[in-house]
Amino acid sequence: MTARIIDGKAVADKLNAETAAKVAAFVKTHGRAPGLAVVLVGEDPASQVYVRNKGKATIAAGMLSVEHKLPAEASEAEVLALVGKLNDDPKIDGILFQLPVPKHINADRVIDTIDPAKDVDGFNVVNAGRLAVGFDGLFPCTPLGCLVLLDEAGVKLEGAEVVVVGRSNLVGKPVTQLLLRRNATVTIAHSRTKDLAAVCRRADVVIAAVGRPRMIQGDWIKPGAAVIDVGINRIEEGGKNRLVGDVDYDAAAKVASAITPVPGGVGPMTIACLLRNTLTSAERRAKR
Ligand code: NDP
Repeated sequence: MTARIIDGKAVADKLNAETAAKVAAFVKTHGRAPGLAVVLVGEDPASQVYVRNKGKATIAAGMLSVEHKLPAEASEAEVLALVGKLNDDPKIDGILFQLPVPKHINADRVIDTIDPAKDVDGFNVVNAGRLAVGFDGLFPCTPLGCLVLLDEAGVKLEGAEVVVVGRSNLVGKPVTQLLLRRNATVTIAHSRTKDLAAVCRRADVVIAAVGRPRMIQGDWIKPGAAVIDVGINRIEEGGKNRLVGDVDYDAAAKVASAITPVPGGVGPMTIACLLRNTLTSAERRAKR
């Protein structure tokens, strides 16, 4: 079998077009665009690129994009004060605190200061709790993107055996909660899991969120299973810098029914889901 390649870029473009159309309708009704504020502390080069890309995508969707760039020496109190201001600003529907941050800032404390109704990254403990107990809320973008890709690929989740490799608060845990809501039977594997290969071989769907290049081998995949590769790993190969996932793509694509490539799979979905979360936040806030 040769797997169908799940084109994350195409799915993200489609989702962004839907979001832009709903944003236009929101502007007509409410006389203002949904607003996303990004707070960046310090000069981490990768973060600067992410923030620039998020800003461009926000504007392309017809939303208001606000960037707050603070120097690396900014104190935690200054960051908390800025978040407080954004919480009170009626033009702002989403607040994103770009990670990583300098060591003297407690990122968890900042994230938990964000108004849960504006926490478009879904990292706030209130939203994590709401996800766990089955309430509405704002949920993490990368896990939401994984679910959209599975739906677009026509993968049936109800009753399916899903193995999630990785248990981070960013990806592994929230994607597990989303899958439970869809009535999948979910196993979460991590660095202490015994015989990971055998655990993966049981799965109708494997979601890899580990951060180890090509760790998941082709013969760990049950023939016909779907594979979602969240990993983004930069490696040197053949004298070139390459981005690869957590799955040995070439080998897995020979046995899976559908698979996401890296890059061009889960990656583009994250910003698309961030924009959708910002719109959702604006719509909910407008109803209050
Ligand atoms: P973390 O480092 O926070 O978590 C990694 C998880 O993998 C941990 O639960 C860890 O287990 C587990 N793990 C590590 N080694 C092994 C192993 N040998 N066997 C089994 N499990 C193992 O990473 P994130 O969840 O933040 O990110 C995972 C990957 O996804 C990274 O490559 C990251 O770059 C990428 N990513 C991509 C995004 C996108 O937009 N596409 C967004 C976010 C992340 P333990 O808990 O026991 O330590």
